[in-house]
Amino acid sequence: MTNSQDLFHTAYTHARSYQDHIPDMRAFPSQDALDNLQHFDEALPDTPQSADDTINLLNKYGSPATVASTGGRYFGFVTGGALPVTVASNWLSTAWDQNGGLVATSPIIAKLESVALGWLCDVLNLPSDCGGAFVTGATMANFTALAAARHTLLAKQGWDVNAAGLYGAPEIKVVVGDEVHVSLLKALMLLGLGKDRVLRVPADAQGRMIAGDLPAMDDMTILCIQAGNVNSGAFDVAMPLCEAAKEAGAWVHVDGAFGLWARASEKLAPLAVGYELADSWAMDAHKWLNTPYDSGVALVRDAQHLTNAMSATASYLATSEDREPAYNVPEFSRRARGIDIWAALRTLGKQGVAAMIERNCQQAQMMATLLTDAGFTVHNDVVLNQIVVSFGTPDQTRQVIQQIQADGTLWAGGTSWQGQTAMRISVSSWATTDDDIQCSAEAIIRIVKQVLI
Ligand SMILES: *Cc1c(COP(=O)(O)O)cnc(C)c1O
Repeated sequence: MTNSQDLFHTAYTHARSYQDHIPDMRAFPSQDALDNLQHFDEALPDTPQSADDTINLLNKYGSPATVASTGGRYFGFVTGGALPVTVASNWLSTAWDQNGGLVATSPIIAKLESVALGWLCDVLNLPSDCGGAFVTGATMANFTALAAARHTLLAKQGWDVNAAGLYGAPEIKVVVGDEVHVSLLKALMLLGLGKDRVLRVPADAQGRMIAGDLPAMDDMTILCIQAGNVNSGAFDVAMPLCEAAKEAGAWVHVDGAFGLWARASEKLAPLAVGYELADSWAMDAHKWLNTPYDSGVALVRDAQHLTNAMSATASYLATSEDREPAYNVPEFSRRARGIDIWAALRTLGKQGVAAMIERNCQQAQMMATLLTDAGFTVHNDVVLNQIVVSFGTPDQTRQVIQQIQADGTLWAGGTSWQGQTAMRISVSSWATTDDDIQCSAEAIIRIVKQVLI
């Protein structure tokens, strides 16, 4: 067996070298690197192997087959990189191997979750005593917050959904915008609320819900609004939507996977005015806060509503007076996600978070200008970090996207936006420099010229 000191040193050396090379790496692995994945097609060993060999094999064929999403020229989905301090906190807390379920299984994780929760409410300018769930991403954050909504609305009708389930329960009406993110529909699907029985509110050209088209709502309604459309970056105009919902006694849930972070910046906060009136919020940390995967957060205005929906206990699970992580999330045993959020927030500070978000938005503006000046069509108002652009006919745009991905300078994916075939560019990494924007725009322009010859 290898001495674990040496093994960790080996892993550290490989990780350092990976991080050092990231700026020069292709944004998506080469065909050679993909072909080399066949080296992992081994028979399961009968006997123990060298741990050093295992780590070396992982690095030799694994590292080159990674998507360089932690580098500065990855603009796919809304991915975000990982701030160095969060990678470091992640390593240390992995070495601790704590079970983050209870105070009894890890006082340090319970403590830092509580601290991070307070700081999140602070930086996002939301009520300071929200309940919070540290989960795997915005999908589970939507799920967790909507479970709290479901439990609360039914409890008001005298129905305990935890005990009785949904069969025979009073009906809950769910209202979403036509541009609802698929993960929110998935959450509704898992909660037994159904993804097809929602009422969809038409959206405008930017993807924002049209307030005048809201259906009648009541105290058995959940209205789901969105901060940051996954294509355009647009925000539902929250104030009139929230006011109408509050008037009716409805629950308002916000899917703010990346857009909610606009509230951390004074400059961008006007986009997200009114979102503070909601009852629950879902967001990602692994997107714009740039923590490692996987990390999302659900916030619920009334902490009790969250624990009512998520608590289940047994006699051997001793509990403390303090906040027990497991009574706020779907899981029991879990890793220490809150620690990386704590590390990011503590290291950036409020101003650092705002600066990171604002820098990415400026870079999106810069990219949009470069592409518009080159004669391409940007379809959205670039209000945040998202650009939707096309390069001619749908076929030409598809070809350009394919060639951009094959070229490797940058990575961006395709989409269909308001009936147009387009490419999405999402600027959400701490690592993206203005040079990355310049060089990526040049690559796009070069590739379009080649394709359109
Ligand atoms: C990315 C995203 C999600 C889903 O987040 P995951 O972290 O992938 O679970 C939900 N809503 C919006 C608007 C998103 O951009």
